[in-house]
Amino acid sequence: MSTLGFGEAGQGMERPVNQRNSTIVKILALAIAWASTIGGGCSSFRLPAGVAELPDSHRLHIAPFSISTSFSLTKDDSLVHELVSLRGRVHETLKLPLASRQIEIFIFDDRPSYERFIHLHYPELPRRRAFFIARDQREMVYAYRDDRLDEDLRHEVCHALLHATVGVVPLWLDEGLAEYFEVPLEANGTHERHLDELHSAMQRGWKPSLTRLENLTRVQDMNGSDYREAWAWVHFLIHGSAEGRQVLLGYLQDLRTDRCREPISARLFQVIQRPDSIFASHIEQLKPTPIEPNSISTSPAGR
Ligand SMILES: [Zn+2]
Repeated sequence: MSTLGFGEAGQGMERPVNQRNSTIVKILALAIAWASTIGGGCSSFRLPAGVAELPDSHRLHIAPFSISTSFSLTKDDSLVHELVSLRGRVHETLKLPLASRQIEIFIFDDRPSYERFIHLHYPELPRRRAFFIARDQREMVYAYRDDRLDEDLRHEVCHALLHATVGVVPLWLDEGLAEYFEVPLEANGTHERHLDELHSAMQRGWKPSLTRLENLTRVQDMNGSDYREAWAWVHFLIHGSAEGRQVLLGYLQDLRTDRCREPISARLFQVIQRPDSIFASHIEQLKPTPIEPNSISTSPAGR
């Protein structure tokens, strides 16, 4: 994920869509002019070929989502059902209000057109398959069409739903929840790839540490094993015990009202003795949930 909002180009995105494209074209023209000026002397600047426009020839509104594409999408499309279902799952599982603020989703036709746009408007961002960007009470998701689009959208839209209903969520928890909800509904939060890798790591003597995760404050500092562990702590909190679940739900409610002055571990340690070792037992006994083969993801963590 990335929860960001900045940049000169980003200011153009605050305008209505019909103005946004003209702004983008102007920015692109300026960038090309600048690149021509510096000529071949700057090998680090590579503006991808083509026009960096948002897909907007088709727009589907299904509250709270506004989905912009350059291909036809209807309310009966499975992708739309996924998003509607995700909103309900986040609401039911975390006892949060149903997100009502509009979440804008832009699905590019392919990776090159998506990367051109991101590179131009958010040059600071690392290379990722999809992004969630929050800015001035707007939640925006960018992704592109391929066979992992559903998973990418579940992950990023989860960030958007959390941001719309809770506000700022600690990084590890934000990512852990997005990893939890990115798996297909029938997996019930069990992330098979993460689980396999955690089982292997535990056999090699790996030890979990929630307090270590809580000290990670920049998305650049989170590696694949951190995403894995974040998912596992979220799974433990939701499924491990009634006490852990109550700690998580109460913590999210307090985040909404800005009443969190301590990390969640401080609360967890008050109600569960030695949570690290109970966490380990929970993960060790956890088995993958059988799901359809075409629903299994092989994507790396790190969005
Ligand atoms: Zn993420």
